[in-house]
Amino acid sequence: MDSFMDAAIAEAQAGLAEGGIPIGSVLVHQGKIIGRGHNRRVQKGSAILHGEMDALENGGRLPAAVYAQSVLYTTLSPCAMCSGAILLYRIPRVVVGENVTFLGEEELLRSRRVVVDVLQDSRCIEMMREFIRKHPTLWNEDIGVDPGASERNEWTSPERERGVDPGASERDEWTSPERERGVDPGAATRRWRFGLVKERDES
Ligand SMILES: [Zn+2]
Repeated sequence: MDSFMDAAIAEAQAGLAEGGIPIGSVLVHQGKIIGRGHNRRVQKGSAILHGEMDALENGGRLPAAVYAQSVLYTTLSPCAMCSGAILLYRIPRVVVGENVTFLGEEELLRSRRVVVDVLQDSRCIEMMREFIRKHPTLWNEDIGVDPGASERNEWTSPERERGVDPGASERDEWTSPERERGVDPGAATRRWRFGLVKERDES
């Protein structure tokens, strides 16, 4: 399992060497890499080539049964676009390098019964931290954020530096069914986010 994340990290490093955003991904079917790629938005002037999308694209056209038995490894928590592709092809498991610098749609994936494992690999965290520090504009563009006004807080706040999603508690507070039942929905998330429990409590 670790060697597949190593392969995804190698892809991310290759992307960085090309002047791109260091996010890599590999698609693994029955213990073999069948697709590999890295973010090539900068290199290709592409709107859609995130690392995961590039790995899927390079894997080529595959039957549904192959995706259904595959695991997608990605160095960074998958965004809405990549999570959509994961759901579309019914990839049952995603192994994520880290979600400290960016938390994607992991809850959406889990709600659709995708198994999401987050490794919090320090190599992935460092790579993204350094890139975001050096190229904040490029990074915001990659995740579809207008760095003006209201968004500025979300991406540069001290909470963000500590790996806390400042929006999570608000979303939970006002929209979750847990709230209806008088349960603090943030507690499980916080424990999970800081690695005190492996998965979110579903109770
Ligand atoms: Zn993405």
